[in-house]
Amino acid sequence: MRRPEKLVVASHNPGKVRELEDLLRPLGIAAVGAASLGLAEPEETGHTFAENAALKARAAARAAELPALADDSGLTVAALNGAPGVYSARWAGPNKDFRIAMQKVEDALKGQHDRRAAFVAALALAWPDGACRVFEGKVEGTLTWPPRGDKGFGYDPIFVPAGHLITFGEMEPALKHTISHRARAFQKLIAAWSR
Ligand code: IMP
Repeated sequence: MRRPEKLVVASHNPGKVRELEDLLRPLGIAAVGAASLGLAEPEETGHTFAENAALKARAAARAAELPALADDSGLTVAALNGAPGVYSARWAGPNKDFRIAMQKVEDALKGQHDRRAAFVAALALAWPDGACRVFEGKVEGTLTWPPRGDKGFGYDPIFVPAGHLITFGEMEPALKHTISHRARAFQKLIAAWSR
């Protein structure tokens, strides 16, 4: 797979753009955010993380006439048949309140012994001609209650990654970034470039 010199980060979320820029900088790849190019944000109509990442990357690549990188991610809970999944952001409601989203997960799990969950990230790289590759990363763990820690975001305070005793919310970001679903997807993308 060709390694681009410059690409669009197909996200309007400044936190995501920053995180992907940070990952791309050491590789000498210049990144520009979709919002700064005035690109429209497509509706996430896919049923999987991979479909949503691919549709965002394809739309941005076509509009910007540059290679585009998009990410889609979320929490999947085994006892909830994978929910909230691609609806992870939407469970937080219009005010993006993740205390509400975490409470919804906990309420749905009431009486369940199975507390297994995973964070999943799909990274899609698309070219203006429509070619697209998707790389997935996953980190398995268990859910705890009540929420603990304020270092992360989203569902981090209720997720304890396998092999650790603390939540992602309590973990130093530098450590989280070495084991996270997004980091694992990114490692696969880099491996495809070096082949
Ligand atoms: P997206 O912007 O459609 O990919 O939504 C992803 C949603 O999944 C975010 O809003 C978070 O709620 C959740 N999520 C994804 N990655 C993480 C993570 O590393 N920690 C906590 N929550 C996450």
